[in-house]
Amino acid sequence: MTRVVIIGGGPGGYEAALVAAQLGGEVTLIDSDGIGGSAVLTDCVPSKTLIATAEVMTEVSESEELGIRFADGDSPATGLSVDLKAVNKRVLELADAQSEDIASRLVRDKVTIVAGRGGLVSPEVVVAETADGERSYPADVILIATGAHPRVLPEAVPDGERILTWTQVYGLNELPEKLIVVGSGVTGAEFAGAYSGLGGEVVLVSSRDRVLPHEDADAAQVLEDVFTRRGMEVLSRSRAQSVVRDGDQVVVTLTDGRTVTGSHCLLAVGSIPNTENLGLAEAGVELNEAGFVAVDRVSRTSARGVYAAGDCTGVLMLASVAAMQGRIAMWHALGDRVSPLDLSVVSSNVFTAPEIATVGMTQQQADTAIPKVATAMLPLEGNARAKMQGVRDGFIKVFCLPVTGIVVGGVVVAPRASELIYPLAIAVAERLTVDQVAESFTVYPSLTGSLAEAARRLHLHGQELRG
Ligand SMILES: Cc1cc2nc3c(=O)[nH]c(=O)nc-3n(C[C@H](O)[C@H](O)[C@H](O)COP(=O)(O)OP(=O)(O)OC[C@H]3O[C@@H](n4cnc5c(N)ncnc54)[C@H](O)[C@@H]3O)c2cc1C
Repeated sequence: MTRVVIIGGGPGGYEAALVAAQLGGEVTLIDSDGIGGSAVLTDCVPSKTLIATAEVMTEVSESEELGIRFADGDSPATGLSVDLKAVNKRVLELADAQSEDIASRLVRDKVTIVAGRGGLVSPEVVVAETADGERSYPADVILIATGAHPRVLPEAVPDGERILTWTQVYGLNELPEKLIVVGSGVTGAEFAGAYSGLGGEVVLVSSRDRVLPHEDADAAQVLEDVFTRRGMEVLSRSRAQSVVRDGDQVVVTLTDGRTVTGSHCLLAVGSIPNTENLGLAEAGVELNEAGFVAVDRVSRTSARGVYAAGDCTGVLMLASVAAMQGRIAMWHALGDRVSPLDLSVVSSNVFTAPEIATVGMTQQQADTAIPKVATAMLPLEGNARAKMQGVRDGFIKVFCLPVTGIVVGGVVVAPRASELIYPLAIAVAERLTVDQVAESFTVYPSLTGSLAEAARRLHLHGQELRG
């Protein structure tokens, strides 16, 4: 029997454990902080649960034009409030329950779970520090899936009360009066949107020209416009230098000397891989300059028999990608059929209101592609269902290759864009043409109707581009 030892119980580790067990491996999973990893306990699951409440608040508070009033005649825009203590209790309970579900599934599949901190002694031996002392695990295959932790600025040290990382916000009992979010990447934008949706005053400090600098520029513009319309202050081209506590307040000093004062500050300035003190160098596992484990597309590291998956590799910091890297590692190590990781078919989502979902080629890649790629972009305001629902912000964008019309990417900016992107994700993965997408029935009225319409607009893609 192949002995598989996995360090880290997040999606990279636990999904790999399930595959390895299915393929007949003898699997040991070592985790230091709880099965499910950061994904389940501090990152994805808690943030999306918090956002679920914010989403309802946002929808209801913007429902006045749909004729909704409270019993006392209050408008939904002014009559709503949130009990953050109750929200956070639900968030943490849900995360714990999810962690227990995953642990039960692992036990059912005969994975041995070890609570402890793992490290490599060599490419064939893992050692774990547990409550009962140090234990050694000889291995034929090792997977490193230790994840990452929040980066903090040298002059912005979280105190867990008012200066917070995203792992600490669930301890808040009351909605921050004025929250300053430092960082306008996906995490910063999601939390800024969430707390603003919950009714708090929010200032978003962005070092770049616009929020979400790595996302589709049209989508980011829609979101920034919506944020400011809802009352959020977005400080662009503003880099935080330091964050200090001053009694019940926090003061953020920007590099140009300006200061912003608020009640709380959330740092969302990226992640650092958990690759220190794991014995990686001693075992011959190479790291790149940023400290991530270097892997190939089947998750192999530079050490024979040692694989790595997830955030510790920095390939694409998503739970879905971590899980796929972990599965690929096990399919490869245990001799099953395997296709190398293909990032061109990954779909991802920014959980704001509206959501921004993307798959495949980006606008930037489309603009510079040779041969030229055709693009159709349809604002949602013309969609019948959107009008009925009072949805104005958002669009659908589809990219296709010239001549063949094969769909190579798309962007959806809409409520529940994370669900609407799937037809495009299938089209990209299965290399469907715009005509195939356009010929499929959509429900009337529906937002997906605009998706089919965008595909229909690309019917003459070949002729247009040749002309
Ligand atoms: C706020 C936020 C929201 C996010 N939302 C989403 C989302 O909606 N969708 C999405 O796809 N992605 C999301 N992500 C990204 C996602 O959380 C990560 O990509 C995912 O957690 C990576 O999984 P992983 O298995 O690599 O690591 P992790 O989930 O971090 O798990 C690693 C585990 O290994 C443990 N560990 C570390 N060192 C050791 C050691 N030496 N021994 C034993 N155990 C160890 C850690 O304690 C942890 O339990 C979000 C990230 C953040 C920050």
